[in-house]
Amino acid sequence: GYRSRAAFKISEIDEKFGFFKKGARVIDLGCAPGGWLQIAVERGVTQLVGVDLLPVDPVAPAHILEMDFTDNACPPRLIELLGGAPDVVLSDMAPNTVGHRETDHLRIVGLIEMGAEFAIEVLKPGGAFVAKAFQGGETADVIARLKKNFDRVVHYKPKASRADSSEVFLVATGFRGR
Ligand code: SAM
Repeated sequence: GYRSRAAFKISEIDEKFGFFKKGARVIDLGCAPGGWLQIAVERGVTQLVGVDLLPVDPVAPAHILEMDFTDNACPPRLIELLGGAPDVVLSDMAPNTVGHRETDHLRIVGLIEMGAEFAIEVLKPGGAFVAKAFQGGETADVIARLKKNFDRVVHYKPKASRADSSEVFLVATGFRGR
């Protein structure tokens, strides 16, 4: 079985956009408990690295790093473990909420921005970036930034994402390079 409901979401997203291919290199930000890694491996990805603040049980052959992505030392570690530039950067990172609406909001958008900057920094041309976001979130700036660097940027809500949740995924494909 899959370790998370989130597995079904990435499964649908990949069915629609098709980025899990043999030979693809994938980085998964906020990978615990490992559901997205399971789907990637099941679809033939063999070069993949996940990172999370929390420990994750192995998902062979993925490399898993227990670290804070916002730590400056993390991005180079990810590339080193992957052994080269990624074709796909995924982020399902969600900060722990503190209950203060604006603070929580800024933290969510902050993580999306960091994921997007990282993707733009490291992706191979033609690559893709996926990030969990929330409807009504202040993501206009990051979307504008992504539109400059990718051919196509869309919002996608998989069926596995509850209709009553404001969760929505940003999917950027066709990275144009820096
Ligand atoms: N996609 C995962 C799966 O299918 O199993 C589920 C991910 S879960 C919704 C979000 C994860 O983001 C949590 O495990 C959390 O620890 C992680 N996270 C949040 N902030 C992070 C950070 N700064 N660095 C690394 N991981 C982070």
